[in-house]
Amino acid sequence: MIDRIGDGPVFSVEFFPPKDEQGEAELWRAVRRLEPLDPAFVSVTYGAGGSSRDRTIRTTGRIATDTTLVAMAHLTAVSHSTAELRHVIGSYAAAGISNVLAVRGDPPGDPLGEWTPHPEGLTYADDLVRLVKRSGSFCVGVAAFPYGHPRSADLDVDLQRLLAKIRAGADFAISQLFWEPEGFLRLRDRLAAAGCDVPLLPGIMPLLSAKTLQRGPELSGAPLPDGLAERMAPYADDPRSFRAAGMDLTTELCQKLLGEGVRGLHFYTLNRSLATVELVRRLGFVGS
Ligand SMILES: Cc1cc2nc3c(=O)[nH]c(=O)nc-3n(C[C@H](O)[C@H](O)[C@H](O)COP(=O)(O)OP(=O)(O)OC[C@H]3O[C@@H](n4cnc5c(N)ncnc54)[C@H](O)[C@@H]3O)c2cc1C
Repeated sequence: MIDRIGDGPVFSVEFFPPKDEQGEAELWRAVRRLEPLDPAFVSVTYGAGGSSRDRTIRTTGRIATDTTLVAMAHLTAVSHSTAELRHVIGSYAAAGISNVLAVRGDPPGDPLGEWTPHPEGLTYADDLVRLVKRSGSFCVGVAAFPYGHPRSADLDVDLQRLLAKIRAGADFAISQLFWEPEGFLRLRDRLAAAGCDVPLLPGIMPLLSAKTLQRGPELSGAPLPDGLAERMAPYADDPRSFRAAGMDLTTELCQKLLGEGVRGLHFYTLNRSLATVELVRRLGFVGS
Protein backbone atom coordinates (compact mmCIF):
# COMPACT_ATOMS: atom_id res chain seq x y z
CA MET A 1 0.00 0.00 0.00
CA ILE A 2 2.78 2.43 0.88
CA ASP A 3 4.25 1.92 -2.61
CA ARG A 4 1.07 3.20 -4.18
CA ILE A 5 1.10 6.29 -1.98
CA GLY A 6 4.74 6.88 -2.92
CA ASP A 7 3.83 6.68 -6.61
CA GLY A 8 0.85 9.02 -6.07
CA PRO A 9 -1.14 11.09 -6.38
CA VAL A 10 -3.78 8.63 -5.28
CA PHE A 11 -6.98 8.92 -3.30
CA SER A 12 -8.28 6.88 -0.38
CA VAL A 13 -11.54 6.81 1.55
CA GLU A 14 -12.62 6.39 5.15
CA PHE A 15 -15.75 4.66 6.43
CA PHE A 16 -17.12 3.94 9.88
CA PRO A 17 -18.56 0.56 10.95
CA PRO A 18 -22.33 0.47 10.21
CA LYS A 19 -24.68 0.39 13.21
CA ASP A 20 -27.60 -1.55 11.70
CA GLU A 21 -28.79 -3.35 8.59
CA GLN A 22 -29.73 -0.14 6.81
CA GLY A 23 -26.31 1.32 7.59
CA GLU A 24 -24.67 -1.88 6.40
CA ALA A 25 -26.54 -1.67 3.08
CA GLU A 26 -25.58 2.00 2.68
CA LEU A 27 -21.93 1.22 3.40
CA TRP A 28 -21.81 -1.60 0.88
CA ARG A 29 -23.45 0.54 -1.79
CA ALA A 30 -20.72 3.11 -1.17
CA VAL A 31 -17.97 0.46 -1.25
CA ARG A 32 -19.22 -1.02 -4.52
CA ARG A 33 -19.56 2.44 -6.09
CA LEU A 34 -15.98 3.31 -5.17
CA GLU A 35 -14.40 -0.03 -5.99
CA PRO A 36 -14.07 0.49 -9.78
CA LEU A 37 -12.46 3.90 -9.18
CA ASP A 38 -9.44 2.14 -7.66
CA PRO A 39 -8.73 4.01 -4.40
CA ALA A 40 -5.26 3.27 -2.97
CA PHE A 41 -6.94 2.01 0.20
CA VAL A 42 -10.21 2.05 2.11
CA SER A 43 -10.17 2.49 5.88
CA VAL A 44 -12.68 1.71 8.63
CA THR A 45 -12.65 3.67 11.92
CA TYR A 46 -12.49 2.06 15.37
CA GLY A 47 -15.19 3.06 17.87
CA ALA A 48 -15.36 3.15 21.65
CA GLY A 49 -17.75 0.25 22.33
CA GLY A 50 -17.26 -3.51 22.10
CA SER A 51 -19.92 -4.18 19.45
CA SER A 52 -18.76 -1.35 17.20
CA ARG A 53 -15.21 -2.68 17.53
CA ASP A 54 -16.31 -6.14 16.41
CA ARG A 55 -18.05 -4.48 13.47
CA THR A 56 -14.81 -2.71 12.51
CA ILE A 57 -12.96 -6.03 12.45
CA ARG A 58 -15.78 -7.70 10.50
CA THR A 59 -16.30 -4.87 8.01
CA THR A 60 -12.59 -4.35 7.31
CA GLY A 61 -12.08 -8.10 6.97
CA ARG A 62 -14.98 -8.34 4.54
CA ILE A 63 -13.60 -5.48 2.45
CA ALA A 64 -10.23 -7.31 2.38
CA THR A 65 -11.74 -10.63 1.30
CA ASP A 66 -14.87 -9.77 -0.74
CA THR A 67 -13.61 -6.83 -2.81
CA THR A 68 -10.59 -5.89 -4.87
CA LEU A 69 -9.87 -3.02 -2.46
CA VAL A 70 -6.92 -2.68 -0.09
CA ALA A 71 -8.34 -2.44 3.44
CA MET A 72 -6.93 -0.53 6.39
CA ALA A 73 -8.33 -0.97 9.90
CA HIS A 74 -8.08 1.78 12.51
CA LEU A 75 -7.14 0.85 16.08
CA THR A 76 -7.19 2.89 19.30
CA ALA A 77 -5.80 2.34 22.78
CA VAL A 78 -9.09 3.34 24.47
CA SER A 79 -10.20 0.95 27.27
CA HIS A 80 -7.93 -1.85 26.04
CA SER A 81 -5.21 -3.68 27.92
CA THR A 82 -2.09 -4.41 25.90
CA ALA A 83 -3.14 -8.07 25.79
CA GLU A 84 -6.50 -7.09 24.28
CA LEU A 85 -4.78 -4.86 21.75
CA ARG A 86 -2.56 -7.79 20.75
CA HIS A 87 -5.70 -9.89 20.32
CA VAL A 88 -7.34 -7.27 18.02
CA ILE A 89 -4.13 -6.95 16.00
CA GLY A 90 -4.12 -10.75 15.67
CA SER A 91 -7.77 -10.65 14.50
CA TYR A 92 -6.80 -8.11 11.84
CA ALA A 93 -3.95 -10.32 10.64
CA ALA A 94 -6.24 -13.37 10.59
CA ALA A 95 -8.77 -11.39 8.49
CA GLY A 96 -6.07 -10.63 5.94
CA ILE A 97 -5.55 -6.99 6.97
CA SER A 98 -1.98 -5.76 6.91
CA ASN A 99 -2.59 -1.99 7.12
CA VAL A 100 -3.44 -0.34 10.43
CA LEU A 101 -4.06 3.30 11.37
CA ALA A 102 -2.79 3.48 14.97
CA VAL A 103 -4.46 6.34 16.86
CA ARG A 104 -4.64 6.90 20.61
CA GLY A 105 -8.39 7.65 20.71
CA ASP A 106 -10.32 9.97 23.03
CA PRO A 107 -12.06 9.39 26.39
CA PRO A 108 -15.41 7.69 25.63
CA GLY A 109 -18.38 10.08 25.89
CA ASP A 110 -16.34 13.29 26.09
CA PRO A 111 -13.55 13.69 23.54
CA LEU A 112 -12.15 16.65 25.49
CA GLY A 113 -12.47 14.99 28.90
CA GLU A 114 -9.55 13.74 30.96
CA TRP A 115 -7.67 10.90 29.25
CA THR A 116 -7.11 7.96 31.56
CA PRO A 117 -5.24 5.03 30.08
CA HIS A 118 -6.33 1.46 30.80
CA PRO A 119 -4.28 0.32 33.85
CA GLU A 120 -2.64 -2.38 31.73
CA GLY A 121 -2.81 -0.47 28.48
CA LEU A 122 -1.00 2.22 26.51
CA THR A 123 -0.98 5.99 26.97
CA TYR A 124 0.08 7.45 23.63
CA ALA A 125 -0.16 6.52 19.96
CA ASP A 126 3.61 6.04 19.55
CA ASP A 127 3.37 3.05 21.96
CA LEU A 128 0.56 1.65 19.83
CA VAL A 129 2.63 2.07 16.66
CA ARG A 130 5.46 0.09 18.29
CA LEU A 131 3.05 -2.63 19.43
CA VAL A 132 1.51 -3.05 15.95
CA LYS A 133 4.92 -3.01 14.27
CA ARG A 134 6.25 -5.65 16.71
CA SER A 135 3.19 -7.83 16.13
CA GLY A 136 3.73 -8.59 12.46
CA SER A 137 4.39 -7.22 9.03
CA PHE A 138 2.03 -4.25 9.13
CA CYS A 139 2.05 -0.97 7.24
CA VAL A 140 1.12 1.59 9.91
CA GLY A 141 -0.37 5.07 9.58
CA VAL A 142 -0.82 7.74 12.27
CA ALA A 143 -2.88 10.91 12.79
CA ALA A 144 -1.48 14.40 12.17
CA PHE A 145 -2.92 17.79 13.10
CA PRO A 146 -2.18 20.79 10.86
CA TYR A 147 -3.34 23.17 13.62
CA GLY A 148 -2.08 21.05 16.49
CA HIS A 149 -3.91 18.42 18.52
CA PRO A 150 -6.28 20.16 20.99
CA ARG A 151 -4.24 18.75 23.93
CA SER A 152 -0.84 19.79 22.60
CA ALA A 153 0.69 22.85 24.27
CA ASP A 154 1.80 24.37 20.96
CA LEU A 155 2.69 23.51 17.37
CA ASP A 156 6.34 22.72 18.21
CA VAL A 157 5.31 20.18 20.84
CA ASP A 158 2.73 18.78 18.44
CA LEU A 159 5.37 18.33 15.73
CA GLN A 160 7.62 16.48 18.19
CA ARG A 161 4.73 14.12 19.04
CA LEU A 162 4.17 13.39 15.37
CA LEU A 163 7.88 12.80 14.84
CA ALA A 164 7.87 10.40 17.81
CA LYS A 165 5.13 8.34 16.11
CA ILE A 166 7.12 8.27 12.89
CA ARG A 167 10.31 7.29 14.72
CA ALA A 168 8.29 4.50 16.39
CA GLY A 169 7.78 3.05 12.90
CA ALA A 170 4.83 4.81 11.24
CA ASP A 171 4.97 4.58 7.47
CA PHE A 172 2.68 7.51 6.72
CA ALA A 173 0.34 10.02 8.36
CA ILE A 174 -3.17 11.27 7.60
CA SER A 175 -4.22 14.73 8.68
CA GLN A 176 -7.27 15.92 10.51
CA LEU A 177 -9.72 17.78 8.25
CA PHE A 178 -9.12 21.44 7.43
CA TRP A 179 -10.54 24.11 5.10
CA GLU A 180 -7.58 25.88 3.55
CA PRO A 181 -4.27 24.40 2.44
CA GLU A 182 -1.84 26.68 4.30
CA GLY A 183 -1.82 24.96 7.72
CA PHE A 184 -1.40 21.54 6.10
CA LEU A 185 1.42 22.74 3.83
CA ARG A 186 3.19 24.39 6.78
CA LEU A 187 3.06 21.09 8.67
CA ARG A 188 4.43 19.25 5.64
CA ASP A 189 7.29 21.78 5.37
CA ARG A 190 8.10 21.44 9.06
CA LEU A 191 8.21 17.65 8.78
CA ALA A 192 10.55 17.95 5.79
CA ALA A 193 12.74 20.44 7.67
CA ALA A 194 12.98 17.87 10.49
CA GLY A 195 14.33 15.37 7.95
CA CYS A 196 11.14 13.33 7.78
CA ASP A 197 9.97 12.13 4.39
CA VAL A 198 7.05 9.80 5.19
CA PRO A 199 3.95 10.70 3.15
CA LEU A 200 1.50 13.07 4.82
CA LEU A 201 -1.97 12.69 3.32
CA PRO A 202 -4.51 15.50 3.74
CA GLY A 203 -7.83 14.42 5.25
CA ILE A 204 -10.64 15.95 3.18
CA MET A 205 -14.19 16.35 4.43
CA PRO A 206 -16.40 17.35 1.47
CA LEU A 207 -18.32 20.48 2.48
CA LEU A 208 -21.88 19.33 1.85
CA SER A 209 -24.02 21.05 4.48
CA ALA A 210 -24.18 24.04 6.78
CA LYS A 211 -23.85 21.60 9.69
CA THR A 212 -20.42 20.46 8.45
CA LEU A 213 -19.34 24.09 8.33
CA GLN A 214 -20.59 24.74 11.86
CA ARG A 215 -19.19 21.59 13.44
CA GLY A 216 -15.95 21.30 11.44
CA PRO A 217 -13.85 23.75 13.47
CA GLU A 218 -15.14 22.31 16.75
CA LEU A 219 -14.37 18.71 15.70
CA SER A 220 -11.03 19.38 14.05
CA GLY A 221 -9.49 22.40 15.76
CA ALA A 222 -8.93 23.85 12.26
CA PRO A 223 -10.20 27.44 12.12
CA LEU A 224 -12.53 28.62 9.37
CA PRO A 225 -10.46 30.67 6.93
CA ASP A 226 -11.31 34.32 6.36
CA GLY A 227 -14.18 34.72 3.94
CA LEU A 228 -15.38 31.11 3.99
CA ALA A 229 -18.49 31.74 6.12
CA GLU A 230 -19.30 34.79 3.95
CA ARG A 231 -18.83 32.77 0.74
CA MET A 232 -21.27 30.12 1.94
CA ALA A 233 -23.76 32.45 3.69
CA PRO A 234 -25.98 33.04 0.60
CA TYR A 235 -26.70 29.28 0.47
CA ALA A 236 -27.47 28.77 4.17
CA ASP A 237 -31.19 28.15 3.61
CA ASP A 238 -30.92 26.17 0.39
CA PRO A 239 -29.30 22.74 0.94
CA ARG A 240 -28.93 21.99 -2.80
CA SER A 241 -27.11 25.16 -3.69
CA PHE A 242 -25.08 24.90 -0.46
CA ARG A 243 -23.91 21.46 -1.54
CA ALA A 244 -23.06 22.71 -5.04
CA ALA A 245 -21.04 25.66 -3.69
CA GLY A 246 -19.43 23.39 -1.05
CA MET A 247 -18.39 20.88 -3.71
CA ASP A 248 -16.79 23.70 -5.74
CA LEU A 249 -14.93 24.85 -2.64
CA THR A 250 -13.77 21.31 -1.82
CA THR A 251 -12.64 20.82 -5.43
CA GLU A 252 -10.59 24.04 -5.25
CA LEU A 253 -8.98 22.89 -1.98
CA CYS A 254 -8.07 19.51 -3.49
CA GLN A 255 -6.72 21.13 -6.67
CA LYS A 256 -4.48 23.44 -4.65
CA LEU A 257 -3.16 20.49 -2.64
CA LEU A 258 -2.50 18.41 -5.76
CA GLY A 259 -0.80 21.45 -7.30
CA GLU A 260 1.47 21.48 -4.24
CA GLY A 261 2.45 17.89 -4.93
CA VAL A 262 0.57 15.95 -2.22
CA ARG A 263 0.83 12.20 -2.76
CA GLY A 264 -2.76 11.42 -1.92
CA LEU A 265 -6.12 12.75 -0.77
CA HIS A 266 -7.92 10.89 2.02
CA PHE A 267 -11.69 11.47 1.87
CA TYR A 268 -13.86 11.27 4.97
CA THR A 269 -16.99 9.79 3.35
CA LEU A 270 -19.30 9.35 6.36
CA ASN A 271 -20.33 6.16 4.51
CA ARG A 272 -21.82 8.09 1.59
CA SER A 273 -19.85 7.92 -1.60
CA LEU A 274 -21.59 10.18 -4.13
CA ALA A 275 -19.63 13.31 -3.21
CA THR A 276 -16.32 11.42 -3.18
CA VAL A 277 -17.07 9.83 -6.56
CA GLU A 278 -17.94 13.24 -7.98
CA LEU A 279 -14.77 14.80 -6.54
CA VAL A 280 -12.38 12.12 -7.81
CA ARG A 281 -13.94 12.51 -11.27
CA ARG A 282 -13.65 16.30 -11.16
CA LEU A 283 -10.03 15.98 -10.07
CA GLY A 284 -9.20 13.67 -12.95
CA PHE A 285 -8.41 10.50 -10.95
CA VAL A 286 -10.85 8.65 -13.24
CA GLY A 287 -12.65 9.42 -16.48
CA SER A 288 -16.14 10.82 -16.11
C1 LIG B 1 -7.00 10.42 10.22
C2 LIG B 1 -7.58 10.23 11.61
C3 LIG B 1 -8.25 9.05 11.91
C4 LIG B 1 -8.79 8.84 13.18
N1 LIG B 1 -9.46 7.69 13.43
C5 LIG B 1 -9.98 7.47 14.66
C6 LIG B 1 -10.67 6.24 14.96
O1 LIG B 1 -10.81 5.36 14.12
N2 LIG B 1 -11.18 6.09 16.21
C7 LIG B 1 -11.05 7.05 17.18
O2 LIG B 1 -11.53 6.85 18.29
N3 LIG B 1 -10.40 8.21 16.93
C8 LIG B 1 -9.87 8.45 15.70
N4 LIG B 1 -9.20 9.62 15.45
C9 LIG B 1 -9.13 10.65 16.49
C10 LIG B 1 -7.91 10.44 17.44
O3 LIG B 1 -8.04 9.26 18.16
C11 LIG B 1 -7.88 11.64 18.39
O4 LIG B 1 -7.63 12.83 17.68
C12 LIG B 1 -6.94 11.50 19.58
O5 LIG B 1 -7.24 12.56 20.50
C13 LIG B 1 -5.49 11.65 19.23
O6 LIG B 1 -4.98 10.54 18.68
P1 LIG B 1 -3.42 10.46 18.31
O7 LIG B 1 -3.21 9.16 17.69
O8 LIG B 1 -3.00 11.67 17.56
O9 LIG B 1 -2.78 10.50 19.78
P2 LIG B 1 -1.33 10.86 20.31
O10 LIG B 1 -0.37 11.00 19.21
O11 LIG B 1 -1.02 9.89 21.39
O12 LIG B 1 -1.55 12.29 20.93
C14 LIG B 1 -2.58 12.54 21.88
C15 LIG B 1 -2.17 13.75 22.74
O13 LIG B 1 -1.13 13.34 23.61
C16 LIG B 1 0.01 14.16 23.44
N5 LIG B 1 1.18 13.28 23.58
C17 LIG B 1 1.61 12.34 22.71
N6 LIG B 1 2.73 11.74 23.18
C18 LIG B 1 3.01 12.31 24.38
C19 LIG B 1 4.01 12.12 25.37
N7 LIG B 1 4.98 11.22 25.22
N8 LIG B 1 3.97 12.88 26.49
C20 LIG B 1 2.99 13.81 26.66
N9 LIG B 1 2.01 14.03 25.76
C21 LIG B 1 2.02 13.30 24.64
C22 LIG B 1 -0.12 14.75 22.04
O14 LIG B 1 0.55 16.00 21.97
C23 LIG B 1 -1.61 14.91 21.92
O15 LIG B 1 -2.03 16.13 22.51
C24 LIG B 1 -8.65 9.85 14.19
C25 LIG B 1 -7.97 11.05 13.88
C26 LIG B 1 -7.42 11.24 12.61
C27 LIG B 1 -6.71 12.53 12.30
